[in-house]
Amino acid sequence: MTRFSTRAVHAGRDELRRLGVHAPPIDLSTTYPVTDLDAGTASFDALVGGQARADNPIYARLHNPTVARVEDALAALEGTGACVAFGSGMAALTAVLMARRAHGAHVLVVRPLYGTSDHLLASGLCGIEAEFVEAGEIASRRRADTTLVIVETPANPTLDLVDIRAAVAAAGEVPVLVDSTFATPVLQNPAALGARYVLHSATKFLGGHGDVIAGVVCCADEDARPLRTVRAATGGLLHPLAAYLLHRGLPTLALRVERAQKNAEVLAERLQAHPSVAKVFYPGLGTVRNAALHWTQMRGPGCLVAFELAHGHAAAASVMREVKLLTPAVSLGSVDTLIQHPAGLTHRVVGEADQLAHGITPGLLRLSVGIEHVDDLWADLSRALEAVPAGVHRDAAAA
Ligand SMILES: *Cc1c(COP(=O)(O)O)cnc(C)c1O
Repeated sequence: MTRFSTRAVHAGRDELRRLGVHAPPIDLSTTYPVTDLDAGTASFDALVGGQARADNPIYARLHNPTVARVEDALAALEGTGACVAFGSGMAALTAVLMARRAHGAHVLVVRPLYGTSDHLLASGLCGIEAEFVEAGEIASRRRADTTLVIVETPANPTLDLVDIRAAVAAAGEVPVLVDSTFATPVLQNPAALGARYVLHSATKFLGGHGDVIAGVVCCADEDARPLRTVRAATGGLLHPLAAYLLHRGLPTLALRVERAQKNAEVLAERLQAHPSVAKVFYPGLGTVRNAALHWTQMRGPGCLVAFELAHGHAAAASVMREVKLLTPAVSLGSVDTLIQHPAGLTHRVVGEADQLAHGITPGLLRLSVGIEHVDDLWADLSRALEAVPAGVHRDAAAA
């Protein structure tokens, strides 16, 4: 097999030469002519039954060639037989829950994880009962009706790492889903460690330019079939224009992640030495749970850094206000650097007690490092840190 960076450039483009084009065509058809009814019926049955392709796409909710190409590309990058793309990461997670619901209603979930994933699971919206556990409790909490184990590593926002191999061993027969959004296939391939489902919010690094909302599940084709059936029934589709943009970003994925990671390593060290910063969370500094796994199950410490300000919420709000080159915004994985406040934004839907139990404090900021020059990033960030008004220090000291 070719190497990762080669696959990232070429995957999902096999048929382009036959089509006589160099860039993937965007197919916006919602319906496809059926002149041979029997053949059309066979295609319909195949697609509704979860097959990846059929002779005739029939209707765009069942199949779209532009979407199928980026699915092929991501399956090749994760080393899985298949990939199913959805309109967002949350639609992707929902589809997995709905598909697993046929095998049982109990799901074990290791916290912390993305705020809306936590909320979706805790709410019981998909008819499943989520039980939140520590990674070490998976084996003892497994039940006969446990249908899925969910872990996120690196976890959002504290960058704790979960040992995927150990989680898979503890889960036994129960399939494990790994949300690998923060790692990207550049730094981690959970399927090679035994995970049955690899989920990405493709909105983040895979899209990479802040202009696509998408989600994917990479898995074996037999597990992909029920997901396609759920997608066809519920309509959580990825639009072909978004699929095109997602595919467009993949050739530079490794370059982007490697550069952003270099920047993140430098910023993490500089933040750790800064007097306004109480604690830096970064696998490369050894300051997160299971940090050493970034050498073994990952191929690097990643592009996200979280840090806690010595003077709490007011100081965090001041940094959000003062940054100029950095964008104060949720989301992550874009070419530009973003900074956000988990307690006030992404993890709002998680109860305060659960927030605090998982290190989501009022002074915590999360940095998604981009590919700019690191000295320009540090100039902006350190200026914002120094601009924290003196009153904030006094208030925090008095509190
Ligand atoms: C953003 C994100 C999601 C949700 O993805 P959307 O594309 O926003 O629906 C899920 N998991 C993680 C780790 C994320 O960062």
